Amino acid sequence: MTLPDSVVVGIDVGGTNTLIGFVDAEANILCRKSLSTKEYFNPQDFVIEVVRIIHYFFDENKNFKLKGIGIGAPNGNIHHGTIDFAPNLEWKGIIPLVELFAQYFETEIILTNDANAAALGEKIYGGAKAMDDFIFITLGTGVGSGIVSNGKLVYGYQGFAGELGHVIVVKDGRKCACGRKGCLEAYCSAGGLVKTYKELLSETVIAESDKEFSAQMVYEKAKTGDIYAQKAFLQTADLLGFALANFVAFSNPQAIFLFGGLAKAADLMLEPIKEAMENNLLQIYKGKVQLLCSSLPETDAAILGAAALIGN
Ligand SMILES: [Zn+2]
Repeated sequence: MTLPDSVVVGIDVGGTNTLIGFVDAEANILCRKSLSTKEYFNPQDFVIEVVRIIHYFFDENKNFKLKGIGIGAPNGNIHHGTIDFAPNLEWKGIIPLVELFAQYFETEIILTNDANAAALGEKIYGGAKAMDDFIFITLGTGVGSGIVSNGKLVYGYQGFAGELGHVIVVKDGRKCACGRKGCLEAYCSAGGLVKTYKELLSETVIAESDKEFSAQMVYEKAKTGDIYAQKAFLQTADLLGFALANFVAFSNPQAIFLFGGLAKAADLMLEPIKEAMENNLLQIYKGKVQLLCSSLPETDAAILGAAALIGN
């Protein structure tokens, strides 16, 4: 008789959807499920549904056994296993997610914020396998980050280390979703790029600047020669490179990985980001920090990242 193979469940709790993946020891995702997070007004009902999905998988696949559950979630707090005041979720306040799941499983359950989980995914399954010091930056609806130093994720005193998206890069700058002004996220997220584009348009083509654009549309415009779209990408890259140069100073990374929707515009952004970073780096770091795009498969990164919290 062969022993059952251990499987880790990776859960990515997003504002819109939650992804659940069953990951084997070779990082293969054996099965993927998703559910609409927004449909669950209270976390208890959400947990019951996720538990049902997990039990169903193991009932149907007796040759696998559950090794642990890793959860990536916005504002996930690894110290307490809680989601604390996540602005993008319907559940307000502090949600004891690990405790809720622990009623149903005896296995290890770990929760952290989604960017930290993805950074760990890069270390275990992606391009950072041989690296002990790197910074992982997610560029999407928001700007998030995970910092790996000496081979370990930096969590900090409260568990909230690595909020690099909310480092203020412009004094008294644009209003940020966090309520403050001038954060990196207000400029270098997808929405920040669109805003920069509209600002550039409003200086000349007033009528156009009232239209609604997505980051994808700005990308396509830039590719077809729209100079305002190209300029918006350059300005975004310039500010990001400047910020990255400062980030380098506190953890001296071997590489910085870019991930997420905007990172897909690497053909427009990567070189200008690198140039801005190099121009602003302290002499001792110049030419020593690699700027790379994440090698995690886009669709599975969140699941693998969450699963990486447990390891296999
Ligand atoms: Zn902010």
